[in-house]
Amino acid sequence: PSCAREAAASAPQTSPAPAQEAGGPLPVLGRDVRVPLVTGGEVTYAALDYAASAPALQRVWDDVAAYAPYYGSVHRGAGHLSQLSTELFERSRRTVAEFLGCREGDQVVFTRATTDSLNLLSAALPQGTRVFVFETEHHASLLPWRTHDVTYLDAPRSPEAAVATLEAALHGAPAGPKLVCVTGASNVTGEVWPVRELARAAHRHGARLVLDAAQLAPHRPVSLADLEADWVALSGHKLYAPFGAGVLAGRADWLVRAEPYLAGGGASRRVARGADGGVDVEWHTTAARHEAGSPNVIGAYALASACRALTEAGFDGLVAREEELLARLRAGLAGVPEVRVLSLFGEGADQVGVVSFVVEGWNSSHFAAALSAEYGIGVRDGLFCAHPLLRTLLGQQSDAPGECGAPETAPDSQPSPGEAPALNAVR
Ligand code: PLP
Repeated sequence: PSCAREAAASAPQTSPAPAQEAGGPLPVLGRDVRVPLVTGGEVTYAALDYAASAPALQRVWDDVAAYAPYYGSVHRGAGHLSQLSTELFERSRRTVAEFLGCREGDQVVFTRATTDSLNLLSAALPQGTRVFVFETEHHASLLPWRTHDVTYLDAPRSPEAAVATLEAALHGAPAGPKLVCVTGASNVTGEVWPVRELARAAHRHGARLVLDAAQLAPHRPVSLADLEADWVALSGHKLYAPFGAGVLAGRADWLVRAEPYLAGGGASRRVARGADGGVDVEWHTTAARHEAGSPNVIGAYALASACRALTEAGFDGLVAREEELLARLRAGLAGVPEVRVLSLFGEGADQVGVVSFVVEGWNSSHFAAALSAEYGIGVRDGLFCAHPLLRTLLGQQSDAPGECGAPETAPDSQPSPGEAPALNAVR
């Protein structure tokens, strides 16, 4: 019916940003959840584990709710809702490109999340690429390269040492394609890495750099142009959008020369039976090459909505507010003698609102369970999918099986019983 069509056509514009004080918190879903305490009564749940996954902004949810009744197939039909969805999907791509400071010719590929984006790039690397990665990386940026020649770099103790370590490694590297992968802000220490300096060092030696911005993008502006990075990867669910959509954005050349990450409909421009009886395929040279299958249009739309909301809120105000909260948290923790805050770069390092700490004498999973049950505070505990980094920070030298591993039945973030891993409190 025509009224539905009109509503659909206007859906993207129907969600004005909720009024909000400059620098104030952006309203998120679920912030008024009441939880029962084992000690009796109930409290408003305090989620301090947004580094793992942040709830969607109310604004994002409203945008999705306004569009959800009208979605249809993308790039696959002339019907009105199919056209609308295609337009929204491509508009979302442009919004994300703008949010990430993409340059002329850069591509924005929608993926499932950061892990997926970095695996995609790994699959697209030219034959013989040597990869350089610090041992301090999250497993998502540490592990995807293992099918290539990888140089693992020791944990640097300052941003300057990170640049010097990389320079030294690249200096002696053989000719050929090279890639550096670095995380913009650590999910463990919250410390910000010198991305532009590392990108410059990489370029001086003919290498390229991919930035894992999973933790940086929710806290600081991330611009490929300003940071001089070649690619950036991020996850919607850490950027106040729901699960299921992420991005790999950056230089097109290696991406368009690579085999498609997934083979299937949408990635191919032309498919025909070949003279040899097989199938000849002409693949797209746009981002669609790596997006085979029906795309997650709602995920992409939600991610773009979060990018718009953060841009409109302004990072200056968000950073100032976050610094206040961080100072409060650090001051509170400093008053507890048993607490040791984990840091790689030491006092005075630039840090986003992510803090990990150990409580001497406590098993972190017991401590986290007590925070939840007795105070309604949710924190992440364990090894944070960064086992080598945690080993460096905690000073655990042993390679005994299980020491840094996970029980078979639990996700790899969980510590083994008896370990003293860390707690992660965020924002
Ligand atoms: N990189 C960093 C720094 C992260 O903190 C995370 C998630 O915790 C990832 C990558 C992986 O993100 P995802 O699980 O969304 O793929």
